[in-house]
Amino acid sequence: MSHVHNFSAGPCILPQEVLEQASQAVKSWDDHGLSLVEMSHRSKAFVAAMEECRALTKELLGLPNRFDVLYLQGGASLAFLTSAMNFLPEGGQAAYADTGTWSAKSIKEAKHVGRVNVITSSKEDNYNHIPDVGNVDADNAYLHITTNNTIFGTQYAQMPKSNVPLVADMSSDILSRTFDPEPFALIYGGVQKNMGPAGAVMYAVDRERLGQAGRSIPSYLDFDVQLGKDSMFNTPPVFSVYTTLLTLRWLKAQGGVAAIQARNEAKSALLYGEIDRNPLFEGHAKEGSRSHMNATFRLLDDSHAAAFDSAWNQAHINGLKGHRSVGGYRASMYNALPLESVQVLVDVMAEFERNHG
Ligand SMILES: *Cc1c(COP(=O)(O)O)cnc(C)c1O
Repeated sequence: MSHVHNFSAGPCILPQEVLEQASQAVKSWDDHGLSLVEMSHRSKAFVAAMEECRALTKELLGLPNRFDVLYLQGGASLAFLTSAMNFLPEGGQAAYADTGTWSAKSIKEAKHVGRVNVITSSKEDNYNHIPDVGNVDADNAYLHITTNNTIFGTQYAQMPKSNVPLVADMSSDILSRTFDPEPFALIYGGVQKNMGPAGAVMYAVDRERLGQAGRSIPSYLDFDVQLGKDSMFNTPPVFSVYTTLLTLRWLKAQGGVAAIQARNEAKSALLYGEIDRNPLFEGHAKEGSRSHMNATFRLLDDSHAAAFDSAWNQAHINGLKGHRSVGGYRASMYNALPLESVQVLVDVMAEFERNHG
């Protein structure tokens, strides 16, 4: 089989060695004599895997001790609701930055819970930049941000300075770069963008801020309940969690987040360099807001689209089509995507200019 260069936005590329280890574990897991997916989640082996996964997440993210990690179901889409249920107090309010489709959805869900102040938005510019967050009134319980906007290809260059705790959807840039976790009360992300196969959502919860919402929270949605059960309140998504663990081990062996960040920056610099150089293309996201994970760009002359599509398809590039709300192209360059794949895309774009420029 020829090698495919996988630029898919999610579910995303995973390291080849992780896929091999995961498939082996599905056939027969280590020396347990059973498949990973037919074994009790209460078995010693799986409990140890879950514990290692939680601990390694904390270690790789560099989280202070007051944080605990959960792997639950429902994806980031349910986290839009649970984050508000656990951290937006009854009768209180929270601030939200509207930087794309996913932030808009987080706002919609939080409104089921309490008062939401959308303090900034780049919607009028089709979300082509990260707007200034400015000062947040202290009567907001938190400021919710989407650190990387997967669809529009924008990302906070720096986390906003905020005088209230931050709650962040980091689905599509988790573990891609280092950041200071001090200002955060909650970090969450669907694992299928940069951590593992779909099925789990990761929550990093500041334990000390829990228990102040003043409402009755249904058991599954209550972080206190989930933490009390060590992320095993009910049957966890065992395959997703175990494969995420394999990816975390891989990431640690690569040198951790700082090392992968340097590689991610090299990949995105290579691609944006070509987007800016090549007269046939233009980027969607404004400089200063460009994402290192998802680069969005388009052809200046749409009549070239069929020819360009055929060129990248022939180069065994997968998943380059842009989201319908932006059009054009989106190259997702998650942790496991090698620099060589980006080079292949850049070569296709340069060759395309020679033939159609
Ligand atoms: C994909 C994505 C989501 C949705 O994740 P699900 O796990 O499918 O609910 C939310 N936020 C961001 C930033 C995403 O990229």
